[in-house]
Amino acid sequence: MNDNAEDKLAALESVWYDVIDAVNAGRTNGLICPECQHPDGLQVEERQGRVEVSCPNCKRVVEVQVNTF
Ligand SMILES: [Zn+2]
Repeated sequence: MNDNAEDKLAALESVWYDVIDAVNAGRTNGLICPECQHPDGLQVEERQGRVEVSCPNCKRVVEVQVNTF
């Protein structure tokens, strides 16, 4: 892993921070892709212990680790 790849990952996480934060807070409706602002919103799929958020337009997939109490 080189520095450039780490920079890209950090940039991705900062762009998606609001979405990840919302999912962690249980808000999964009306989320908009921060990269393409696709009006149809994001698809949210719950798996065991994590949530997969995907954009039907630009095909970005972001995995969110959900804190369970
Ligand atoms: Zn998108």
